[in-house]
Order: sequence, then structure tokens, then C-alpha cells
Amino acid sequence: QNTKKISIVGSGLIGQNWSMIFAGAGYNVCLFDVDPAQLERAKSNISSTLQRYEKDGLMRGTGTAVEQSTRVSTSTSLEECLHSTFYVQECVPENLELKTKVFAQIDNVIGDDVIVASSSSCLVASSFTEKCNHRDHMLVAHPINPPYFIPLVEMVPAPWTKPEVMATTRTLMEEIGQSPVSLKRECPGFALNRLQYACINEAWNMYQSGLLSAEDIDKVCYDGLGPRYAFIGPLETMHLNADGIVDYCKRYAEGAVDVQNKTFKPIPTLYDVPTAEKIQAEYNTTMPLDKIQNKRQWRDNRLAALAKLKKEM
Ligand code: NAD
Repeated sequence: QNTKKISIVGSGLIGQNWSMIFAGAGYNVCLFDVDPAQLERAKSNISSTLQRYEKDGLMRGTGTAVEQSTRVSTSTSLEECLHSTFYVQECVPENLELKTKVFAQIDNVIGDDVIVASSSSCLVASSFTEKCNHRDHMLVAHPINPPYFIPLVEMVPAPWTKPEVMATTRTLMEEIGQSPVSLKRECPGFALNRLQYACINEAWNMYQSGLLSAEDIDKVCYDGLGPRYAFIGPLETMHLNADGIVDYCKRYAEGAVDVQNKTFKPIPTLYDVPTAEKIQAEYNTTMPLDKIQNKRQWRDNRLAALAKLKKEM
């Protein structure tokens, strides 16, 4: 077991996931929250979730579920939570004022070598770390939900984040079994959402123009692009679909660019509610709003099975 200590600030969905991942990798984790009742719930969720994963053969890392749970402690004092830590993962709600306040509080109590990463989905680190004394040790390390089964972490530096802080965090992420990517600079949407937005835009346009049903558009992804993208990315796809990517460009680029120039619509100014209502009406038969929680559970189970399969390959 690793005796080094990790601190997690914010014990909601993402804080609990990070706790389980770090504990699985053998770290001592201390979890802090401003809400003591939430902290209790988080501790008991972590313990029951790990036991369920252990029973289903989905648990990550070393040791039994009970052993992993005991590596996670809680504290209602931020100072105590951060005492002698070497890495802090911030997981408070996505709100600029709150992140700025929490980073200032963390900044006040940490030593010079501690790395502080935010789980922020959208806010960039420069927007909430500018005034911090230790800002060159702060960055975004954005997980994807559910992080326990989707390994990607988008690491995004502020302009003042030291390259060695990015490098150390990347190594740490790899060590705990996550799959980090390093953006060279801040960029709205980071990388995953930029790709996802491009995909959603075209899905929206195809639906709006009546080309396919919502169900069939989703199927194009989960039975078409999705299986492929579970193993190779879009650029690799080009490389493999011809004799290398240069050959692909020579053979197919003109056609691909032509389809886009002639038939792609401009980026929607918004996702209009009437279209959303039509899609939701279609989903009402298979995925009514009161069954969404069941479907989320189903999704997490399928993602868990895929994560297990990829690990065994
Ligand atoms: P959440 O609402 O489930 O949990 C937030 C927790 O922070 C709560 O327990 C709350 O009590 C606590 N908190 C509030 N103020 C605090 C403070 N001052 N100090 C310490 N704790 C405080 O939120 P979440 O879904 O876990 O999201 C956390 C972060 O992770 C956000 O930045 C979010 O954008 C990001 N994120 C979320 C997802 C997702 O799908 N939920 C995915 C990736 C990243």
C-alpha cells in the first residue's frame, strides 16, 4: 500500500468516484465537504458501492472492498484534510465564485510542492486560480462521468501552470489507472466536449431535417461509430481506412469536404425547444422521464462491462 495522502475537496458524485479510484490504487484518501451529513452519506456510499463492484467483479485496484474503504477517511476541517497531502483533487459544484473561494482557501494552507487539480467540466483554471500564491501548481484535471469506468482525464493548464506539474499529474493519473490527455493550453470545451458538440450538432440537424428518427440516430453511434471509437480514434480511423492517412486524404478528403460544404448546416444558434420536445416525445415510449434513473444505472453497468473487457484484452 502507498502511504502517500491524497485530498479530495467536495464529496458529491465526482469526489466519491475519485476517492474510490485513488483508494483502489493504494492511496490514503481524505475527503472533505462543507456539509457533514453529505460527508457521512459519501463514506457509506463509497463503502456500499465498492462492495457491490467487488461482488460483481468490477472493482478496480488492490485489496478487498473493505480494505479499500478503510483507506478513505473524512474530515470536516479543510486544514486537516489537506495536512501533509501531496495532491488535491477539487470537486465542488461548477460555479466560478465558489471555485475561486475554495481555491483561495486551499492556497492558504498548502505547501509549495502540493499539486491542486480541479475536476471542472467547463471553467478554465486561469479563471479561478489567478490570485493564488501557488497558482503554478494548479490545473484542471477533468474526469468523464462515471470516472470509475471511463478512464479519460483531460488535463488543462492555466498559462502559469508549470510543465512539470502537468507531467507529474499525468504520471499520477496513469499510475491510478486513468487515461490522461494533456491540452497545451486552455480552450473552451476542452477536447471531449468539442468533439461531442460537433457530433450533437449534426445529430440535431439530421433529426430536424427528418432524415432519421432519434432512435436511429442514436443507433448510428452505439452500433456504428461507438464500437469503432471504443478502440481507435477518428484520425487513426483515417489511417487504417486507407494505406495510411496521407493516402486517405488523397483518396477521400475531397468527397468528405464536399459533403460538408454542400450539405452541412451552420452550427445551430441554439438547440431549439420544439425539436427537443419532438425527440423527447419519441423517447417517452422507451425512456420516459421517470425511468431515466434506471437507464442511467443500465448505462453505468454497460460501461463497467466494457471497461472490464478492455482491461482483459
Ligand atoms: P455534486 O453536486 O455531486 O457535489 C459537489 C459537492 O461539493 C457536494 O457534496 C457539496 O456539499 C460540496 N461542496 C459545496 N461547497 C463546498 C465547499 N465550499 N467546500 C467543500 N465542498 C463543498 O457535484 P459533482 O457532480 O460531483 O461535480 C463536481 C465537479 O466535477 C464540478 O466542477 C463538475 O462540473 C465536475 N464534473 C462533474 C461531472 C458529472 O457528470 N457530474 C463530470 C465531470 C466533472
